[in-house]
Amino acid sequence: MDFKEDYQQKEDVVSVNQEQQTQQNSYVEDQSQQGVDEAAWAAKIHDGEQEAHHHHGMERRDRTSPNNRDLSARLRGDNELTSIFEGVGTVKKGDRGMDVTKLQQVLVDMKYQLPVYGVDGKFEDETLAALELFQADEGLTVSGELDSDTIQAMDARFDERTDYITAAEDFEEEAPREGTRALSEEDQTAALTSLNPLSNAEGATFDVQKADDYSNAIRDQLADVIAEFHQDLYADLAPLRADPETNFHEDGDIEGAANAGKDVTDQLYGNLNTGPAFQMNVNLIDQWKDQEDRQELLNDTQKKMQAVALVKYLIDANCDEIHPEYNADPYGAEESKALRPIIESFVDSEEKIQTLLDIDTGWKGVQQDGIQYLQRYKDPNNEANREKMWELFHVSIHEYIHTLANSEYKRWAYGLGGSETHTLIEGFCEFFTLNVRAKFPTSALASFQQQVEGSFYDANTPQAIPEVESLDVGLYRSNAEAERMVGIIGIKNAQLGYFQGAVDLMGR
Ligand SMILES: [Zn+2]
Repeated sequence: MDFKEDYQQKEDVVSVNQEQQTQQNSYVEDQSQQGVDEAAWAAKIHDGEQEAHHHHGMERRDRTSPNNRDLSARLRGDNELTSIFEGVGTVKKGDRGMDVTKLQQVLVDMKYQLPVYGVDGKFEDETLAALELFQADEGLTVSGELDSDTIQAMDARFDERTDYITAAEDFEEEAPREGTRALSEEDQTAALTSLNPLSNAEGATFDVQKADDYSNAIRDQLADVIAEFHQDLYADLAPLRADPETNFHEDGDIEGAANAGKDVTDQLYGNLNTGPAFQMNVNLIDQWKDQEDRQELLNDTQKKMQAVALVKYLIDANCDEIHPEYNADPYGAEESKALRPIIESFVDSEEKIQTLLDIDTGWKGVQQDGIQYLQRYKDPNNEANREKMWELFHVSIHEYIHTLANSEYKRWAYGLGGSETHTLIEGFCEFFTLNVRAKFPTSALASFQQQVEGSFYDANTPQAIPEVESLDVGLYRSNAEAERMVGIIGIKNAQLGYFQGAVDLMGR
């Protein structure tokens, strides 16, 4: 089969999000009649960590308010709410529409109940009473309107994430739908729209006249990213494999830190779903060795496909300061057309393809079907190794939460495709990860610190637990889109959808 034809037929399934093709092999197989051994060539997903290398401090296509004050993700991307935040206008009694829905859902998520009418997009007396109660509790002027001071107080509260934590703690298995709400047609549309970051940019469309500038900018950025990743992730580490005894972490250390991530997650979400413990060589696998083994089974076409998939992933995850400049959605039809020759230019020789495959080999953290693939390399410096264990702990929370996504939820998420899939898979995983991290106390018990730090724990002079922000742990910025969806559907809908597959509560 001619490669191009194959590639084009594959485009839908070899998506930028590699999780799609691999986590859901059965789903992919349903869709394609290629006769190719999908499992053999499919790379596993490239998870979060690498983003930290290219984190330029710009949020992925989020339009922050003009004076750059912070606005909680769930309230962002809405022109009227942004204006109110800036001090212009209010939402008040008699108002109708999605702004009212979002306000009501904020109140309900903060446990200011609306017992009779619920979240219905109509600002009447019940909403007024709940809003006034919130204003009084917060020591604000009781204006009965959603004004600037009030929305700032709500913003500050959601930054703490305590209401998301409480919603998980409140969950009762006997009454799973308690506190959820059935979505109207308008809610469903708004919820689905919120998944796409571009939908929040007013009137933004890709200018075809600028397609060349866009693709050139992507090409230059990709060249840098690929060179940097190849050096850091592969070339610098390859020599260490000669002496595993010295250079590899012990199984027990890796398992201890990974299972600490599972434990804190179970403490919050264990009532909604749980998964098996991490065990080395069962569901904790040496990514380097595994990729080398997989690559040996690939023919040239399959190698090229895997390389293409990585390039597409890097466009999505590591060029995110370029897309907004051009109002580009890398999944859009015109954008894809502009990017196709650029992608091809990175995979047009065996050498270039191998460079990309090497990056897959050295990729730091990957998960597939509940298995966490990681690198075993130890640092010569023990303080760095101790930090590495905390990184593993934090990454394991995220990876473990992937394994807790209900299969019905995943089927729905992958069926949507594009940015929508990315938000539902990575954005929501990150959203729940942030909730777990917000609950985890920084002054944890010594026994817990010992579990994470393993042989790098010093009982006589225990070191401070590092803040996640100081570690090499990436953040999926699509968590902002996820939280925006939560702003519409509510936290209880979101958690029941993700962990138990009640996707009707999320807009399906
Ligand atoms: Zn992930």
